[in-house]
Amino acid sequence: MSLRKNLVFTVIAAVSILCGCADKTNNDKNIAVTRDVFAMDTYMNLKAYGKNAEPALEEAEKRIHELENELSATSEQSDIWKINHSSGEETAVSRDTAALIDKALEIGNSTHGALDITIFPVLKEWGFTTEKYHIPDENKLKSLLENVDYRQIKLNDKTVSIPEKSEIDLGALAKGYTGDEIMEVFKSHSIDSAIVSLGGNVQALGSKPDGTNWKVAVRDPFSPENDMCVVEISDKAVITSGNYERFFTGDDGKRYWHIIDPADGYPADNGFVSVTVIGENGLNCDCLSTALFVAGIDGYKDIMMDYPNYDFIFVTDDEKILYTGGIKDKFQNISSMSAEVIDID
Ligand code: AMP
Ligand code: MG
Repeated sequence: MSLRKNLVFTVIAAVSILCGCADKTNNDKNIAVTRDVFAMDTYMNLKAYGKNAEPALEEAEKRIHELENELSATSEQSDIWKINHSSGEETAVSRDTAALIDKALEIGNSTHGALDITIFPVLKEWGFTTEKYHIPDENKLKSLLENVDYRQIKLNDKTVSIPEKSEIDLGALAKGYTGDEIMEVFKSHSIDSAIVSLGGNVQALGSKPDGTNWKVAVRDPFSPENDMCVVEISDKAVITSGNYERFFTGDDGKRYWHIIDPADGYPADNGFVSVTVIGENGLNCDCLSTALFVAGIDGYKDIMMDYPNYDFIFVTDDEKILYTGGIKDKFQNISSMSAEVIDID
């Protein structure tokens, strides 16, 4: 090859390598593109397959931050902050905030108040928002509970008002909604295979690139560094509420966790140490996991029957796993606990 030709060849090769770097097209449908995001006080991992994976992840990350800015109870710019500091006046909110409050009211009703987003002042009193934990005085809890009642929230299209002394927090459902919204972003980029983990809440789009189901591990609440079971899913969310996720140990040696029973203002201790909900809608799964944790062993069946398209895995405080028949062939117990299918009647 002449020197000139050689030079031209080198330039073309260099340009095509550069283009290869700049063009982030993922041409191998079996290779995952992944991204780690820290948002909503949680480590998130997003994984997508297909040629549009890179721009899809880029947009998904933007959407996560947008939702965090709207929904955070502690950021002064958020809709929730504005509602909580509105002195009882109406607040105009985003479409997302309105949708979440609407869902919280619906599931507040269907779970007889087990999910109550006005629990926030109680959560603050325990120190769960600042990590300055303490066991509140019983009378203090009683007086705070006087202002806990989701039925006092008025939602009118995209306008919200709450009583002056009430405050709300969407921590029980924001990540479920975020998962749904990430799936919408992925679909808009024609992605048909993706999976995300938002601090342990998993949601999948389609199945694995080879057409088989995703295998999702659920943690053992008694030793959260270990997995307890594996469930196979496609196009579904697997969302868990557990007493090991955020807790402190009091001077009395007892564990106090972040899911509060609106009936008495104490951490919900009604027979379950973790509740996992599996279904197509991440928002419903997230609301139900928290609510069923609160409803506990006496209340779960009534609520569960209203959601026949969902599956559930409960772990009781006496170390038994109960799960619904819909996942019978997709559930593998890898713990030493006994696991049995729930008898609905
Ligand atoms: P999750 O991990 O989805 O069960 O949500 C737990 C979070 O929901 C807590 O950190 C609080 O922000 C909030 N929360 C705790 N108890 C309740 C409750 N009974 N109803 C609604 N939100 C709650
Ligand atoms: Mg939840």
